[in-house]
Amino acid sequence: MNQAAEQGTLYVISAPSGAGKTSLVAAMLEQDAQLCVSVSHTTRPMRPGEHDGINYHFVSRDDFEAMIGRGDFLEHADVFGNYYGTSQVWVKQTLAGGKDVILEIDWQGAEQVRHLMPDCVSIFIVPPSPEALRKRLNGRGTDASEVVERRLNEAADECSHAVEFEYLVVNDDFDIALDDLLSIVRCHRLRMQAQQLRYSGLLTRLSERR
Ligand code: GDP
Ligand code: ADP
Ligand code: 5GP
Repeated sequence: MNQAAEQGTLYVISAPSGAGKTSLVAAMLEQDAQLCVSVSHTTRPMRPGEHDGINYHFVSRDDFEAMIGRGDFLEHADVFGNYYGTSQVWVKQTLAGGKDVILEIDWQGAEQVRHLMPDCVSIFIVPPSPEALRKRLNGRGTDASEVVERRLNEAADECSHAVEFEYLVVNDDFDIALDDLLSIVRCHRLRMQAQQLRYSGLLTRLSERR
């Protein structure tokens, strides 16, 4: 197969905390074996039910700063007073292996990635209303009430960057939002530039006069 056809696509997904991006991305992975998600490094405390190396790589601030110094991150940002960052080597190797990679990152990280990798596809997810967001954050039950308040306060700031993204998905009905996300991926795979590489032999044969 042509080398260029094997390079995966990078999807950058952002949303205010509680909009549903982690649940939606998990559901996308179940339905599409070509997709995988980057496990970020973070300095925030682990939530009940989370596991190191699965939800995040949980590291100390000192370790995170050492990683910044070594240039280990494709992007990193301070979100809600904690560091979050994406492993440069993992993302590049996984894309080179032909997998499509999803980054679940904040708008600051998305801005850095769009600049570094302009071919990425960026998607912003919003809840159907501010009230729904509050309900979901409280309902998730993973954060202390002052953490929830802080995240709600930051939501308006995050949402003010929505227009910088290529696609907007409203997560009202979960299954519809999931279908929207999978449609974006499918549509991207059908673009002529990508299909031409996959089907160059077929296109040549079909173009030959008989
Ligand atoms: P949740 O979104 O409510 O589940 O909260 P998290 O603690 O998982 O994420 C907090 C914020 O950090 C969100 O805005 C994420 O998009 C962002 N985030 C997570 N991982 C990364 C990363 O690797 N880089 C950047 N820049 N942001 C990240
Ligand atoms: P995020 O990763 O964006 O912070 P989560 O995926 O953790 O968001 O979702 C926040 C909460 O909202 C979770 O408890 C999740 O089950 C719930 N949730 C997600 N999508 C919907 C939806 N469409 N309708 C109702 N609740 C939802
Ligand atoms: P949480 O702490 O609730 O898991 O995540 C809070 C926010 O951090 C979310 O908006 C999430 O998208 C963002 N985030 C998680 N990982 C990264 C990352 O690696 N980089 C950036 N920039 N943001 C991240």
